[in-house]
Amino acid sequence: MKEKKREIVNDSMQALHALAKLMPQLNNLCSLAEMLETINGALGSTLAWVSVDNDSIQRVECAGEVTCHSFEVADFLAGTLLQRHHRSWRVVYWKENIGQALFPPQHPGYSQLQSGVLCKLSTQDGHCSGYFFLAFDEKLSSLPILKNIVVVLVEKLKDYFDEIIAREKTAQEMQRVVTQYKTLFERAPVLMNSFDRHNRCVLWNAECEKVFGWSMAEISAHADPLALFYPDPEERRRVRESVHISPLKDMYEWHPVRKDGTPLTILWSNILLPDNSILNIGLDITERKKAEQQLAVKATTDDLTGCFNRSAILQRLKLALAASSRQDASSHFCVLMFDLDYFKQINDEWGHQVGDAALIHFCDRLRELSPTGSALGRVGGEEFLLLLARADGTAATLLSARLRAALITKPLLVGDKRLALSFSAGVVEVCQGQRDTSGVLTRADKALYDAKRAGRGKTVVASDYL
Ligand code: GH3
Ligand code: MG
Ligand code: MG
Repeated sequence: MKEKKREIVNDSMQALHALAKLMPQLNNLCSLAEMLETINGALGSTLAWVSVDNDSIQRVECAGEVTCHSFEVADFLAGTLLQRHHRSWRVVYWKENIGQALFPPQHPGYSQLQSGVLCKLSTQDGHCSGYFFLAFDEKLSSLPILKNIVVVLVEKLKDYFDEIIAREKTAQEMQRVVTQYKTLFERAPVLMNSFDRHNRCVLWNAECEKVFGWSMAEISAHADPLALFYPDPEERRRVRESVHISPLKDMYEWHPVRKDGTPLTILWSNILLPDNSILNIGLDITERKKAEQQLAVKATTDDLTGCFNRSAILQRLKLALAASSRQDASSHFCVLMFDLDYFKQINDEWGHQVGDAALIHFCDRLRELSPTGSALGRVGGEEFLLLLARADGTAATLLSARLRAALITKPLLVGDKRLALSFSAGVVEVCQGQRDTSGVLTRADKALYDAKRAGRGKTVVASDYL
């Protein structure tokens, strides 16, 4: 709808005046559409458009009373270029009926638009990077001068177009980078999340959902999302402190829980971003930790009987002696050294497999009777060491008596036969201040030897002096 009739530049003086007025205005405008609108206003054109080729993508910007689509521009340009196969032209104009070249008959512009000017936009290398077009309602007599004005205008606008193209390229590049990072955040097999200072979750990648079992929507619905992963308030306080007060560069181990309650082991690093938000990057090492723990257990366990192996039980003896030498009143304990009697005969008579079963059977009975806090280890083929916490020689002797009874009442069953095991034992009472592991072992060994010599099936408590 026309509000007022445009003042169309239809003589050369008028055109030059319009150009002089227009040029300073163009400097202050920022959008291409604004620029085209200003040109329409100054020159009295009804339609102005710019078509820019940007990496084979055609971008069209239009302004004016007549609406023009990019496909109409493309068709028009194709038709015009076909007619003008000389590559050297810069500007062409149409005295009349330009609307018919641009639009289909039913379009209002078909009969409305008369004169038109088309000018190439060329870059420094002379390559045509697009077109600038103006159309008027009237048949203009000033077209030759307007043609020159358009060339001047295009020169003026060229830098601006280059800038627009560069800006769009940068924007596209930025968009590409943003998309890449989004994909990285989403798909990386690394935990990535971010919570703002109000504890709102602002980033929760697919790996987080997979490892923790909670979706971002579920987390967002919770008043204090951190409580989902750290039910213990004290642990939660430490997590919050580490994240908000001192974002850490290194990775630290935390133990959040999964949605199904499974405890996890996660290495977290908190990174402070330039906008003061914090990005948490984590590695789920739950399985690795489990494997390490299993390996550590295997390294200290005797394969056959499941009790500690020789080095592990000797290490515990060393630690117990060290604790006792620090004069901790509760650290007194007894060392019992067991040796199965005539075990070679068992192997010979019953076979090695039964011998193995006998060793397991002995350990099982001993474990059943040992109080919590005791440690049992296999120090040789059929020799075992028991550390009996807070016990004296009497308690140790009592325990060995109960074990002897248990081996008779609960013998090893081999088919329908019963195999009652016998053992000898040497006991050492460890009092405060004793530190020497080998001394303790020698005394236990000697007491055991005494038990053997006394006829086996006995327990001997070592005398206080060697
Ligand atoms: P003593 O009463 O004097 O201790 O006699 P012993 O036969 O028990 O002692 P000896 O040292 O002569 O023999 C110990 C036997 O224990 C020899 C060995 O074949 C057996 N032995 C050691 N380790 C294993 C094992 O892992 N499995 C089985 N089946 N036998 C074992
Ligand atoms: Mg032996
Ligand atoms: Mg033996």
